[in-house]
Amino acid sequence: MSMTSADIRSLFLNFFAERGHEIVPSSSLIPGNDATLLFTNAGMVPFKDVFLGTEKRPYTRATSSQRCVRAGGKHNDLENVGYTARHHTFFEMLGNFSFGDYFKREAIQYAWQFLTDELKIPKEKLWVTVFEEDDEAYDIWAKEMQVPEDRISRIGAKDNFWQMGDTGPCGPCSEIFYDHGESVWGGPPGTPEEDGDRYIEIWNLVFMQYNRDSDGTLNPLPKPSVDTGMGLERIAAVMQDVHSNYETDTFVQLIGKVAELTGCEDLSQQSLRVIADHIRSCAFLITDGVMPSNEGRGYVLRRIIRRAVRHGHKLGVSEPFFHKLVPELVRLMGEAFPELAKAETQIVKALLQEEEQFARTVQRGLSLLEEAMQGLGEGDTLPGDVAFKLYDTYGFPLDLTADITRERGVKVDQAGFDAAMAEQRKRAQQASQFGVDYNAQVTATTETTFLGYQEVQASSKIVELFVA
Ligand code: ATP
Ligand code: MG
Ligand code: MG
Ligand code: MG
Repeated sequence: MSMTSADIRSLFLNFFAERGHEIVPSSSLIPGNDATLLFTNAGMVPFKDVFLGTEKRPYTRATSSQRCVRAGGKHNDLENVGYTARHHTFFEMLGNFSFGDYFKREAIQYAWQFLTDELKIPKEKLWVTVFEEDDEAYDIWAKEMQVPEDRISRIGAKDNFWQMGDTGPCGPCSEIFYDHGESVWGGPPGTPEEDGDRYIEIWNLVFMQYNRDSDGTLNPLPKPSVDTGMGLERIAAVMQDVHSNYETDTFVQLIGKVAELTGCEDLSQQSLRVIADHIRSCAFLITDGVMPSNEGRGYVLRRIIRRAVRHGHKLGVSEPFFHKLVPELVRLMGEAFPELAKAETQIVKALLQEEEQFARTVQRGLSLLEEAMQGLGEGDTLPGDVAFKLYDTYGFPLDLTADITRERGVKVDQAGFDAAMAEQRKRAQQASQFGVDYNAQVTATTETTFLGYQEVQASSKIVELFVA
């Protein structure tokens, strides 16, 4: 019997607890200590101040399974969902952390030991990368862990040098990949085919060894630190001997429920996977206090819900269905996340309300889009004014329209959309010079909607507006 996701989670936490790490419960998806960050998108986020040295904890080693969302903001995997085997909007990141305690050697030893001794993954299935200048990490992998040199690659700063911000702690990374075998397309890290899904990154080790000051100088930290992250869903796929995260235990059950609710009998439909992905991020965002709205975090949530509703339509379901997935999600994840179970009623209510609201316009919007798409195909562009009408009249966030047209290889004219938006604002401003009350209200509505859209483009900026 292969390991369940729950087994892996506890095995990981216990492995590190036995090695002196404090088990720290997952924090909220809303970062408590960082107003510039849209969502908690990595295990290290709750420990940021500890790494910076401004917060002291009674331990120097920690381990956690942190809930993460990567939708909107700097890390945005929303566009990958439904297209890759390995990306979700919501996932759990298993991590071990050293705050000025152990460093590179131990971090690599622990990771290797956990994967090959504890989980018993065959060594020849694993590939590693190091930062191109990090000879120290290279030697530890090659000489001490005895990874054959043809399975170690040196990678540039884009993927293998991490920094917290423009200044502050930073350092080289080392990533561990699993080879899912020939039947899947893709090449090892560092090759042109690396974006395929054959070699999948499972674990990322970050060695925080410098402090970058404002003129860019890298000063060695007196006490270097370690931050690691391993996606639970990805390691579950490895342990359950399936290729895609969506074939792992939690997802299979969730997708089964989506299929039941939508009456879809073809389990290979991507829409089922997308909906299963989206219910997790939406339910957890609501758990952590986000509500659908036209700006900031709430607009990201609204966009994800509306994408899920649209996939329901694609499967032929026009009645609200998305909220009905919540009890199954609670059954699957409520034990690991008691806060989810506690928020169940609230989540159902918020989702149903949003589904009902969108239900009033979604069908007409889809028909309008279908009409506009007549005659368009691969490489064509949908006019910006159509995308704007869908946005303004039918509540289609721009990325929803783009998600639909992308399925047929059609792009959206973003510049035309922006121009239509600017034109609309100008009209609203001119109108406001006439009547006072009524037009003031129109302007306010337009303004809010506009901020929401801006968020798609530059979420960090919007978060500031949102939080301020
Ligand atoms: P990738 O290159 O595959 O997009 P990444 O380098 O962006 O991954 P990291 O930021 O290093 O990912 O995050 C640490 C780990 O978290 C990854 O090694 C992976 O196992 C997991 N992970 C990252 N993004 C996702 C996601 N969108 N869904 C599921 N797991 C993820
Ligand atoms: Mg990524
Ligand atoms: Mg990567
Ligand atoms: Mg990585």
